Amino acid sequence: MLRLNEVQLPLDHPEDALHAAILERLGIAAEEMLGYTIFRRSYDARKKSAVILTYTVDVELRDESAVLKRRTGDRNVMTTPDTNYRFVAQAPGQLKSRPVVIGTGPCGLFAGLILAQMGFNPIILERGKAVRERTKDTWGLWRKRELQPESNVQFGEGGAGTFSDGKLWTQIKDPKHYGRKVLTEFVKADAPEEIMYVSKPHIGTFRLVKMVEQMRATIEALGGEFRFQQKVDDIAIKSENGQGQVQAVVLASGETIVTDHVVLAIGHSARDTFQMLYERGVYIEAKPFSLGFRIEHPQSLIDRCRFGPSAGHPILGAADYKLVHHCESDQARGRAVYSFCMCPGGTVVAATSEPGRVVTNGMSQYSRNERNANSGIVVGITPADYPGHPLAGIAFQQQWESRAFELGGGTYDAPGQLVGDFIAGRASTTLGSVIPSYKPGVLLGDLSTSLPDYAIAAIREALPAFDKQIRGFAMHDAVLTGVETRTSSPIRIKRHDDSLQSLNTTGLFPAGEGAGYAGGIMSAAIDGIRVAEAVALSILSKN
Ligand code: FAD
Repeated sequence: MLRLNEVQLPLDHPEDALHAAILERLGIAAEEMLGYTIFRRSYDARKKSAVILTYTVDVELRDESAVLKRRTGDRNVMTTPDTNYRFVAQAPGQLKSRPVVIGTGPCGLFAGLILAQMGFNPIILERGKAVRERTKDTWGLWRKRELQPESNVQFGEGGAGTFSDGKLWTQIKDPKHYGRKVLTEFVKADAPEEIMYVSKPHIGTFRLVKMVEQMRATIEALGGEFRFQQKVDDIAIKSENGQGQVQAVVLASGETIVTDHVVLAIGHSARDTFQMLYERGVYIEAKPFSLGFRIEHPQSLIDRCRFGPSAGHPILGAADYKLVHHCESDQARGRAVYSFCMCPGGTVVAATSEPGRVVTNGMSQYSRNERNANSGIVVGITPADYPGHPLAGIAFQQQWESRAFELGGGTYDAPGQLVGDFIAGRASTTLGSVIPSYKPGVLLGDLSTSLPDYAIAAIREALPAFDKQIRGFAMHDAVLTGVETRTSSPIRIKRHDDSLQSLNTTGLFPAGEGAGYAGGIMSAAIDGIRVAEAVALSILSKN
């Protein structure tokens, strides 16, 4: 197979134009090409009146070496790299103990899947409920203001990304092509095929729910075992000369599962579990994260600005954006404000896992056809903003989440303000043209005391700057709701670079977003694969 990059065609090209463009670029006759597949399709909308599609294709040829020879020196023509996933190990017939995976988010699911595919029969523990029951509980907060602390947007089968936009791209380096393995498994679990080649794939909530169930069935068929509503409350660690060794996990029910290999894929909201790990002496340090608000605009405004006359084209879908501003004002100098987890045509969701707190985030369906675009507008903060204890960032998040609950009227409504009023420094009393989508509801008022002063100053400075990139971004009627605090983990559970085991606890594999090693579905899933491999190799070395 031969890979050909940078085949460019206009947005509305006829179907056979790609075939013709490949022949032309390779300088070959039609009978020399046996077939082709699209590896990647992206768009360039910088010139809105002439949006360009750029393809990378894998071409099957009658005589590949002859074409390669003729194209020597053309950096866009090469042998297709081998991106197939290969297992690093196979389980022995007899295992001393089964590996345990804590958490069924993308990290835990992929750790479980890879371990099961290698024959290691993992036990996968999840504090929340199976995804169908979890969906009902999650809607319970959105519709009836009833929060289930163990079954919500953060906790339960599928993890934090289940009720999401399901964006699947990541900027992490992936030299071993684990991302391909993730996409391939998602497609096997019924994700749309196009995620294999579109440059910014997404899945949307309804589909994710089915996929999570499908992946569970696959893991179980391979010998893995899922246990829901089984919160890990404690970890037994034997310590010698400052180094610990995992011996067992203890469930909230009191049951003990003996194991010497534990994947800790608990996400960024398992605050009680972070506390327990800290008390058991597992090495943890504070790390930077971000906080801010969700912003909502009409999706049509974003589409027009990004795509001009091509807005609404089915290939382009609902437009997204990515914005960054580096602050210069006295109160916020040196801080960066950026858009986070942008959800085109989506809704803002109530994402708290704790009673008496309000947290925002965003989700969408595959169609992305809701009226509003939303994204987090967040300010980067560092441990210097919440000094002291390694877990101080958690208390800091909780402080602002409680404040948001209070400002929202104490009913799980989110406090909100129109962008025009926020910038002018006056409370909002009535909505304008943008109707916020957050459920159960939004209580309009003044957000200026809902975050630290420097964060308010930073966002006030950033919004007009963003308006220069997307005209209308700082429109008066756009709505801010708060607060967005669960952007990433406020801690890192540090691990060795090679063995991926905790710095001071052998057999404990901190992984995914909660441990500070991922940020998003794709990177968490990839980290799950890496950790599963490390677990398998460690088991083999001891067996
Ligand atoms: P999680 O997905 O958080 O999973 C951790 C799991 O561990 C949870 O199921 C939890 O219940 C379980 N657990 C925790 N403690 C215990 C315990 N003690 N015992 C047993 N089980 C435990 N990312 C994207 O890339 N694209 C998006 O579009 C996107 N949208 C999002 C929308 C929303 C509303 C939210 C909340 C997040 C979104 N994210 C998105 C972020 C993404 O979901 C996370 O980065 C990802 O889920 C992290 O994966 P993880 O497996 O590390 O942790």
